[in-house]
Amino acid sequence: MVGAGTMGAGIAQLACLAGCETLLWDPQPPALERGAERLRAALAKAVERGRLSEQDATDAAARMRTVSTLEELGPCETVIEAAPERLELKRKLFARLESACGPDTILATNTSSLSVTAIAAEAERPGRIVGMHFFNPPTRMRLVEVVPGEETSENTVEGTVELAERMGRTAVRAADGPGFIANRCARPFFLESLRMLADGVGSHDEIDRAIRIGGGFRMGPFELIDLIGIDVNFGVARSFFKQSFGEPRWRPSPIQARMVAAGRLGRKSGRGFYTYAKGERHRPEDPALDAECPILDPRRLDEVAGPRAAQVLGRLSAQIVNEACFALAEGVGSAEDIDTAMALGYNWPIGPLEWGRQLGYAAVLGELEALREIRGEAYRPAPELRLLASG
Ligand code: NAD
Repeated sequence: MVGAGTMGAGIAQLACLAGCETLLWDPQPPALERGAERLRAALAKAVERGRLSEQDATDAAARMRTVSTLEELGPCETVIEAAPERLELKRKLFARLESACGPDTILATNTSSLSVTAIAAEAERPGRIVGMHFFNPPTRMRLVEVVPGEETSENTVEGTVELAERMGRTAVRAADGPGFIANRCARPFFLESLRMLADGVGSHDEIDRAIRIGGGFRMGPFELIDLIGIDVNFGVARSFFKQSFGEPRWRPSPIQARMVAAGRLGRKSGRGFYTYAKGERHRPEDPALDAECPILDPRRLDEVAGPRAAQVLGRLSAQIVNEACFALAEGVGSAEDIDTAMALGYNWPIGPLEWGRQLGYAAVLGELEALREIRGEAYRPAPELRLLASG
């Protein structure tokens, strides 16, 4: 494991629990020690909670060893890189790993937003380089996106899928493009909510409430953006827009630009869409919201905010289904993998394509056409949606 930060320590934990001899390396000795300590503490906690036997935890901990140089990773069958998200840094790491490791070693990157093909572009053996995208926290989120670059061999992909499954994850195969499957299909969850806020459909908390109760999502989009960090979420939006040369669906929100400029970054700065004070809830107690939300029960929509909630869910679902249809036609993932990725990577109550089936593709198309007429190209229906709607 290269990098012992947020992701690296969790992935190393999965590896040693899967029975793999695991070497952990980080160029910053304090980060390496912290990562190893976090791993040991997490195993101890799992024992405390009765999720892991003492023996299994001891065995797993014994399989993990920290190393002080990258070259010591030479004997590894697979190396997973979770270093900072910078192309040049990753390219240099992969060049060093190629000289340290044998020709059969799989070199995997946990990048969320860089192109696997670009990371492998200067490599000597790009066939062995692959994306292996875990979700945060890796020990809790069951999804791994396996992302072949342009030159990645089928053998490498198969070996990576096998390892992910051995780690108890569900692997889906995703094409190397902006956001792979899950982060791409999640775009409208944020962007359409921001547009509805800008259009005055409701306030951030009204929109969140409608989506939580009416849609069965565990968190509303504005709560989730606050948690992720408005700067981080806005950065992702900008990167999508840039990579697509200005796709209208992916246009970033000026609301977020203003909030970032004002230093309102979400939970970490104490204020985002909501205000966060120590010991206080960011939204008032609300029995309807705090109850376990049933999924997509239209009768509950009236309970929320009547016609507004219906409008919120209508626009949100139309854009979510539409994005999934674009992704499907572009070969970003299979229909099954798209739905699986959203259930396991984002805890969505329903996959976007299944949502489309339940709503009826023709109804979704109708909603989009009406929106497009008033609001423009961000609502252009995917050709695939038209095909599905025509049955
Ligand atoms: P992090 O900052 O928590 O950890 C990065 C670690 O890399 C640090 O311990 C740092 O000391 C180490 N490092 C610095 N320079 C290095 C170098 N040259 N070589 C090797 N290690 C180096 O970051 P993170 O959140 O764990 O993210 C790591 C990767 O995982 C990134 O590519 C990120 O995009 C991806 N990722 C992050 C998340 C997330 O939610 N945090 C989710 C999925 C994927």
